Amino acid sequence: MTKVFNGRSATEEYMSTHSLTFSTPEMTLRKFALWLGEQVNLAGTGQGPRLLLYLEEKGGKKDSELAPDTDDSFRPSGAVTDMYKGAESSMPTEETAPQLTPLNRETLEPEGKFCISCGNKLKINARFCTKCGSAQS
Ligand SMILES: [Zn+2]
Repeated sequence: MTKVFNGRSATEEYMSTHSLTFSTPEMTLRKFALWLGEQVNLAGTGQGPRLLLYLEEKGGKKDSELAPDTDDSFRPSGAVTDMYKGAESSMPTEETAPQLTPLNRETLEPEGKFCISCGNKLKINARFCTKCGSAQS
């Protein structure tokens, strides 16, 4: 007679009776392990760890029905749900994008000079002031 641990039934029972909202994955893992090991009343045989409740005689059931859900795809739940809420849709929005200060002409043209007569900003190679017309020498 082979007995198997029905991990799927155990995980579903745990998740339906415990809120994972304020838990981290590490906490959930530890709490689940401790929960499985809690002493409970077993029918007829006194007390024993809870996981004994999920031991079933293997017969008729396929292994896949007994194994825990081992889907590895990441679906945020519990405490991390909020962190990933709408993560795809709101990745780089205009609100979260860093605001770049527009570069002005002075920044783009650092090699400038100023009119010797009126102080107007001129290009480095300007020969006459674009404002007052004074010759730059
Ligand atoms: Zn000038």
